[in-house]
Amino acid sequence: MSALADQHRPQRRDESADSSHGRVGILGGTFDPIHYGHLVIAQEAAARLRLDRVLFIPSGHPPHKLGETVTPGAVRARMVELAIQDNARFALAELELTRPGPSYTVDTLHTLRTSQYMNSAWFMIIGGDMLADLPQWRDPQGIIRQLDGIAAMYRPGYAISPEQIAKLDQQLPGLGEILFPIESPQLAVSATLLRERAACGLPLRYLTPDPVVEYILAQGLYQSGVAR
Ligand code: ATP
Repeated sequence: MSALADQHRPQRRDESADSSHGRVGILGGTFDPIHYGHLVIAQEAAARLRLDRVLFIPSGHPPHKLGETVTPGAVRARMVELAIQDNARFALAELELTRPGPSYTVDTLHTLRTSQYMNSAWFMIIGGDMLADLPQWRDPQGIIRQLDGIAAMYRPGYAISPEQIAKLDQQLPGLGEILFPIESPQLAVSATLLRERAACGLPLRYLTPDPVVEYILAQGLYQSGVAR
């Protein structure tokens, strides 16, 4: 896949400027809780796209989960912190938690690109299940314009076909050019599964890093109200 990475050197920005902050991946999510499915796609995208850093961005109020009960942002952020603490390339970014209202990726990207990561090349990492929803996101063209690449990571049960990509490219011109389906190791794990297992007292070990398991148990998270 190095050809992919080479081919994907940022072309829309000044290369000399990019070198100061490198290539940054962003992985947004509810992370309620974070699990190995998230960590494995972050690691795989970082390796395949030669990312210097991956920012984990817990959603403040996910637009697609309005009306659902979500664990407080500070708690979800703490679990992310615990999960990524041993990986120097991973970092937590809390900007969506401090912003009122629903979290829109187009705004998050704008904030990041006009702040400390001004000169970076930007790559959005998403699970294959989210790909079909992209046209429904707020200002998808604005998102595409701000990105150097979208890493669409394989997820069990969600095939990424050339037909799907062609259709998406028709809906969102320019998307095909920056879209990279990446065949990461596929883990059939979801935050829903962890919440349900926690509520039933089933083990969470090996589904998320041990410090996250310990935190969930110590805080008594997900003991009720798991159905969302
Ligand atoms: P929930 O079960 O609560 O809907 P989730 O497990 O899908 O949550 P999110 O925090 O909503 O987790 O996901 C954040 C991002 O990670 C999304 O882009 C999602 O597609 C991706 N993702 C989550 N789990 C996996 C997985 N097992 N494999 C690949 N991608 C994943």
